[in-house]
Formats: sequence, structure tokens, C-alpha cells
Amino acid sequence: MNKNKKGTIEVICGPMFSGKTEELIRRIKNSNKSYKVFKPVTDTRNKQNKIESHSSIKIDATTIKNINEVLVFKNKFDIIGIDEAQFFDNGIVKICNDLANEGIRVIVAGLDMDYKGNPFGPMPNLMAVAEFVTKVHAICTKTGNLAHFSHRTSENDDLVLLGERTEYEALSRAAFNKLNSHD
Ligand code: ADP
Ligand code: MG
Repeated sequence: MNKNKKGTIEVICGPMFSGKTEELIRRIKNSNKSYKVFKPVTDTRNKQNKIESHSSIKIDATTIKNINEVLVFKNKFDIIGIDEAQFFDNGIVKICNDLANEGIRVIVAGLDMDYKGNPFGPMPNLMAVAEFVTKVHAICTKTGNLAHFSHRTSENDDLVLLGERTEYEALSRAAFNKLNSHD
């Protein structure tokens, strides 16, 4: 490990439609540094070689099956971005630490909670080891207040169900609790 290198881990998290991807892209574009962005193969919503925000801002991204595939690029870029990080396994924590220890600025975006309101995959552990954690919010479709939860509107209890506005809506705590109070 080189003591003079300044690697860090930044986590951007929140519910669906909260601008996580938008913020990831904004930080990368503002930096003027070399970068490479990854997304899990699970996220098939957009074109394979891009990530795209709901407001249609795009950046090139490489689709990977296993988070280890990132390590090949360890010494080639100033910034490594990872979107939809909740879909990777816990191995992502060590990988992000290794990259940051090598001097890379690692920016990770992902859902902090699943549709049931439980912590999602490796996100809690990533938040624990990160230097910076930013929680972004959407607008609650029921109340117009800040939304902190992703509510699934369709009848399906698979943990991973890719979807957009037809399957999910962003809700405030009060609106989320009201809809989930029957179970
Ligand atoms: P995320 O990656 O967190 O899902 P994106 O960066 O892809 O979010 O998209 C954020 C954009 O989604 C906002 O700029 C806004 O235009 C749009 N959007 C759609 N529904 C909502 C909502 N309920 N609250 C906030 N933004 C919303
Ligand atoms: Mg996104």
C-alpha cells in the first residue's frame, strides 16, 4: 500500500428514482479524471454498454457478472464507478477497499433498502467502510414529501424484480408504513 496515494470510497444510496445514477455520473463528469464504470449483469434495463439515469443522462459502463472483474482495471483509471451495487455479493467490500488502498477514488451507487424496507445486499457493509456516504431522496408519489423507501406496486415477491415506474414507486416513511401495515 502506498501511503501517499489518496484513494477513497464514496457511497451514494437511496430509493428508486432518487437520482443515484444521476449523482454518480455528475461526480465522474465533474472530476475531469480518467474513469471506468461497471454495472452488474442483473441490470438489463438499459443498453449493455451504458448506465442511464431516469432523466436520460448517460455514461459508458461495462457489464460484469462478478465483482472480481473490476480488479483487471486497478491501475488504469483514477476513478472506478459501480452502479446498482446492491446486486453484487459481499466480496464487493474487499474489492472496493483494495481499489481505494491503491489510490483509486471509488464511487458506488445502489439501493440502500429492498422493497420490503430491509438493508439490501452488501450496501450496509459498503456504507460502513466508506469515507463518504450520501443519502439521496426521491419525491413521495403519495404525499409529495421526501421519499426514503421503494415500494413495489406489482404482485411479485422475488427479491430481485427489475422494473420501473410500473413496478415501483418511491414513498415517504408514513406512506410506506400505511401500505405495509397489513403484514
Ligand atoms: P436512481 O438511479 O436513484 O433510480 P436516476 O438518477 O436514474 O435515479 O433518476 C432520477 C430522476 O428520476 C430524477 O431526476 C427525476 O427526473 C426522475 N424521477 C422520477 N420519479 C421521481 C420521484 N418520485 N422522485 C424524484 N425523482 C423522480
Ligand atoms: Mg439508477
